Amino acid sequence: MAGKLVIGNWKMNGRREASAALVNAMLADSRINRAGVGIAAPAVYLPLLESSLSGSEVTLAAQDVSRFGKDGAFTGDISAAMLADVGCRYVLVGHSERRQYHGEDEAVLRDKLLNVLAAGLVPVLCVGETLAERENGVYKDVIRRQLSVLEGLAPHQVVVAYEPVWAIGTGKVASLEQISAMHADIKAWCLQIQKSDASICTLYGGSVKADNAEAILSIDSVDGALVGGASLNVESFAMICKAADKLV
Ligand code: PEP
Repeated sequence: MAGKLVIGNWKMNGRREASAALVNAMLADSRINRAGVGIAAPAVYLPLLESSLSGSEVTLAAQDVSRFGKDGAFTGDISAAMLADVGCRYVLVGHSERRQYHGEDEAVLRDKLLNVLAAGLVPVLCVGETLAERENGVYKDVIRRQLSVLEGLAPHQVVVAYEPVWAIGTGKVASLEQISAMHADIKAWCLQIQKSDASICTLYGGSVKADNAEAILSIDSVDGALVGGASLNVESFAMICKAADKLV
């Protein structure tokens, strides 16, 4: 068993030399260098990571993908087929920073999901409510709407990451009760939306750190973690991967 899944999201950080040094330091650490760990690097550095990761079981992930499926006049876009071509296995779809800064809505995200699947890759659909949505009690409707893009897709094809927007990069972590309840709801809603009784892989994301990873990952309904800030530091990321490794 590879333990629970951990994907590090480097976001828009790093330069060629620093990224090479970071991935090499991670590969030198046996807590990180194992199956069940992935790294989502900036698109321009994916080929660099692909070559560093060759021979390792650590998988490569992309942070975003074009909504367009076929090659053509889409300046600046990177297709799912291109991500497959440079060795990606996972693709983040609908991260809250994409929704917030690029206005990605359900129609766009549905196209992206289908393109990722058509390229034989695994989409990691990120969902999460803002603080206002949680506080005014509409957060369950919000998450359900965000999950609606999964309609008709087989559960085993997709990973869902629950990332409350108010917990991303803020140091605020959802309580274990909030995480556990939302993951259980997400799994139940996915089964309804996807009309299946297969198991759904759900990750938690939002200020996961070395000191809270074990408690979060010990929750039964949490199948892994999507890690932002802490994935830029070898020791922090290693501690999180170690916590995940003990659990299935
Ligand atoms: C993220 O970017 O997906 C994330 C969870 O970030 P952080 O861990 O920094 O909150």
